[in-house]
This record gives sequence, C-alpha cells and structure tokens, in this order.
Amino acid sequence: MKMKFTASAVAASILVLTACATSPTGRNQVLLYSESQLAQMGDQAFTGMKEELKISNKPVQNSYVECVANAITANVPVSVFDGQWEVVVFDDEQVNAFALPGGKIGVYTGLLNVAENQHQLAAVIGHEVGHVIAEHGNERMSQSTLINVGTQAVGQILSANEVPQSGPIMAAIGLGVQVGVQLPFSRTHESEADVIGLQLMAKSGFDPRQSVNLWQNMEAASGGDRPMELLSTHPAPQTRIDNLQANMQSALADYQLTAHRPKCQD
Ligand SMILES: [Zn+2]
Repeated sequence: MKMKFTASAVAASILVLTACATSPTGRNQVLLYSESQLAQMGDQAFTGMKEELKISNKPVQNSYVECVANAITANVPVSVFDGQWEVVVFDDEQVNAFALPGGKIGVYTGLLNVAENQHQLAAVIGHEVGHVIAEHGNERMSQSTLINVGTQAVGQILSANEVPQSGPIMAAIGLGVQVGVQLPFSRTHESEADVIGLQLMAKSGFDPRQSVNLWQNMEAASGGDRPMELLSTHPAPQTRIDNLQANMQSALADYQLTAHRPKCQD
C-alpha cells in the first residue's frame, strides 16, 4: 500500500515537471492535457449547445456578431487555433458569451442589449477568447486531476470557458473545493482574461476604453441582484475596472498603432 502511494506520488511529480507552462501574463501553469484533447472537448460541447439552444436566424444580428468576432480572431495566434473560428448567436436572453478551445465562439442575444456598440461587444469576445489563449480550461482540468476530486473533465472545460449550462456539473464538484481552490483560481483567470482581452480588442482596432463602459453597463444591468455564480467567481466590478485602467495605456498605444478600424453594424 505504502509502495503504491510512493510510486504514484513519483509519477505525479514527473507529470507536473513535464507539464509546466507559462501563461501569456507570465504566470506558471500546470497543463496536463494536449491541445487536441481540449479542442475535441470544445467541439463536443459546442455541438451539444447547438442542438439544445435556439440559434438566432436574424441575418443582421448574425453578421454583426460575426464581424466583431472575426476582427478579434484574426489577431489570435494560429498556435492557439489554426483554422476557421465558428461563431454562433444563440437566441437567449442571458447576458453572456463564451469561447471554447477548437475555435468556437457563442454569443447570447441578451448580451447585445448590454454591450451597446461594437467596441463593447469586442471587449466581451476578447475576454472570452482570452480564456482560450491562456488555456484556462486545460489548467482547471489539470488542477482538478492533481487534487484528485474526480471531477468530470467536460464540466471543467465548460465552466472555465463560461458556458452557462455547466452549473449543475460544477455543483457536483463540491462546495469545499469550490470555495477553497476553485474560487481564487477563477479570479486569477478573470483578471488574466481581462488583460489579454483588452490587448486583443485594441490590436483588432476596437477602442479599449469602451471595456470600462461595458463592465459599468454589466453592473447596471445586473441591478445589484447578481447571480450567485457571477458573485462568487468574478471580481468586484471596481476591481475589474481598476485592473483594466492599469493596463489601458499600453492598450491605447496598440490601438493607435493599428490601422484597421472595423465598422460592424448592428
Ligand atoms: Zn471570464
């Protein structure tokens, strides 16, 4: 019994040593899964969502969201995803969006009432794609594997990429882990995705200052009655805005350097 434990501990440490990576903001990460495994899970989750949810059939709405998403994904390194990103507008009043490994983006029509212009929509899509660029899904799954909570891999990837349906799956992980480990981890991911998203939107020709307006609108739309999930895993709006402001100068420099100015019409 003792031997077995030692052997698996050694195996685990070898796994960790060989799987160390650095996130785009310079943070150490442990990534145990391959990119193709993640892409496959992203594919699978997205296919499921397209079957379950109503898809918007409004051409103007679809081309508006595609216009913004395409401008953003044009600036995502091909090392993250080498192919044509798939963008789907879900006809649903939730104020939300997500991106998945394997080049998938979903936007809910409810978000279009809160993101007032193309810049604000770009801030959300940039943030979601930022989670994918920084491999947050892989990191969360890897962490769960290492702390041995026996969680479901698909639930982890859905949650890390903010697919709303993942709530029940995430709940199955257990409150102790949620509060003790997953919660601070999520806040780190949120801040990192905010910074990556800010740079990405600026490079893509969207005004990064509008990201602050977006989060103010989000806060106003939630009317002080924020859903539990948002309350527990997302930074306080002011913390988020402070973080964006701290990175605004370099984002504005990128914005001024790019000649491209998307004109996406809603
Ligand atoms: Zn996020």
